[in-house]
Amino acid sequence: MTRIFSGVKPTGHLTLGNYLGAVRQWVAADQEPDEALFCVVDLHALTVEHEPARVRRLSRQAATLLLASGLDPRRCTLFVQSHVDEHTRLAYLLECTATDGELRRMIQYREKAARAQASGDGVRLSLLTYPVLMAADILAYGTQEVPVGEDQRQHVELTRDLAVRFNQRYGHTFTVPKATHPAVAARVMDLQDPTAKMGKSHENTAGIVYLLDEPEVVRRKVMRAVTDSGEGGVVHDREARPGSANLLDVLAACTGGDPKVLADGYQGYGALKRDVADAVVELLRPVRERHAELAADPGEVERVLRDGAGRARALARPVVDRAYAAIGL
Ligand code: ADP
Repeated sequence: MTRIFSGVKPTGHLTLGNYLGAVRQWVAADQEPDEALFCVVDLHALTVEHEPARVRRLSRQAATLLLASGLDPRRCTLFVQSHVDEHTRLAYLLECTATDGELRRMIQYREKAARAQASGDGVRLSLLTYPVLMAADILAYGTQEVPVGEDQRQHVELTRDLAVRFNQRYGHTFTVPKATHPAVAARVMDLQDPTAKMGKSHENTAGIVYLLDEPEVVRRKVMRAVTDSGEGGVVHDREARPGSANLLDVLAACTGGDPKVLADGYQGYGALKRDVADAVVELLRPVRERHAELAADPGEVERVLRDGAGRARALARPVVDRAYAAIGL
């Protein structure tokens, strides 16, 4: 049995990046409830300026979309982070394990802190400590594997470092987890700016495909994707041609091909974009259909989340209690 844990932040509508980079791996895991835990990490949505009612609404919407994407509550545990106190209880012990220097080095912190400062908002302390809370999310469950997109690699590395450091200092307490990434599309790029990842909270939404976008909207966004000029038709080169490489990666992820091989089949971008648009529309069709059914029955989603929180708490409690005892409390 491999225990897996992963999460999604309710800071916006779920994107194609979230789906291909993370959620699809979760659905494929198809395990037992105690082996696979998936979490709407709402506390992480408070690290930057936020609207209370929006966070609450987006949390429920994220849970609904995860179910619509194919997570089966009989084969995994789906819950909301703030419903399980063990996460924040453990985070404090890990704050006593991490250093200020290692948190300030985190790439996402540096980018988001710069943005918060530029917009005149102060940098919330929680933005700095966010990776420690994420480490607690993971370590509280004895997690072995964390299926995530590339952008989370550094945070999972930090989680490993904290687990090892805690174990060495206070005796073996935590399982040391490792990140797993999909073979292709582990970092889906913004269609309008293929040097930046497709992120659900970006302000310019023209280059972001959301899971609930109507087919015409998906087509328009894909057909307007920025591609690269250059000799030699369509080639897969993430450094020199990030726009076309991104489209090829998305197509490969949707159809199961190899992006480099797929590139040989295209003379120009028009045909490639049409195929990408078709593939993404087909990929998202069942998700949109199931979402419509689930959204009509919000009580069912609430029930799944309540059950999930109960199961999660029962799994996390003994691990966190052990950590409290080990550290001397
Ligand atoms: P976001 O950056 O969209 O707010 P989250 O932090 O909620 O995403 O991440 C949820 C999961 O989706 C994580 O595993 C993350 O690595 C993955 N993910 C987010 N954006 C992308 C992307 N553009 N490509 C691939 N995976 C992504």
